[in-house]
Amino acid sequence: MKTDLGKNKNHYSLPSTVTLATEEKEEIMNGSSFILEELLMHKSDNNKVSIRNNSLTLSATEKLERIKNHIHGIMTTLGLDMTDDSLRDTPLRVAKMYLNETFSGLDTANEPKLTLFNNDYQYTQMLLVKDITIHSTCEHHLVPFYGKAHIAYFSSGKVIGLSKLNRVAKYFSSRPQVQERLTVEISNALKQALGTEDIAIVIEANHLCVSSRGAQDANSSTTTAEYSGKFLNYDIRNEFLSHLKK
Ligand SMILES: [Zn+2]
Repeated sequence: MKTDLGKNKNHYSLPSTVTLATEEKEEIMNGSSFILEELLMHKSDNNKVSIRNNSLTLSATEKLERIKNHIHGIMTTLGLDMTDDSLRDTPLRVAKMYLNETFSGLDTANEPKLTLFNNDYQYTQMLLVKDITIHSTCEHHLVPFYGKAHIAYFSSGKVIGLSKLNRVAKYFSSRPQVQERLTVEISNALKQALGTEDIAIVIEANHLCVSSRGAQDANSSTTTAEYSGKFLNYDIRNEFLSHLKK
């Protein structure tokens, strides 16, 4: 079967036409846990990565087989001897890596389950998790970009397990990405999960498409930030940024 990724202009990932009724939102927010994409898929969001609708209907085995064959085709076209012991299993290895690791965030089955807790200890100050490791893939060159994310929020009454911030960052990083969209996706997901606009996120990353090719500048890095709610206040934003300097 022919695959014409480039010709399909269907931007969208998941159906965005359905809207959640207020009761449904409340049901989700009041539950102790819910699935991120359950909320995100109902939200009109032009920032999302482009995914063909029919890719969702392929089984994991079909995807593995197709990707393996495509990688084999690329390597053969480049002139590599695919009977070589060292290369023979590379197409399957790459296909597994793409599906299970590098691009696992395209599969909604891998969405992190976010468990919320009541803010019983009445903590009202900023909570910051910094130096969250980010490994993602530039969607323009399919080479890695990597770095750190720093995420802060103020509780609106619910708090989240700290490691879940890392898991949300990892989930959205495990897609072909641009750093700007990754920043906004993480922010939007946490706003919905935590029921607050009071979120700040900064991502600092090095892009191999800049350092190892093209401009070949190994020293430059890229910083993106998304501030909302209380973090639009100058003093609060500065408090957040001062923590990052330590
Ligand atoms: Zn790039």
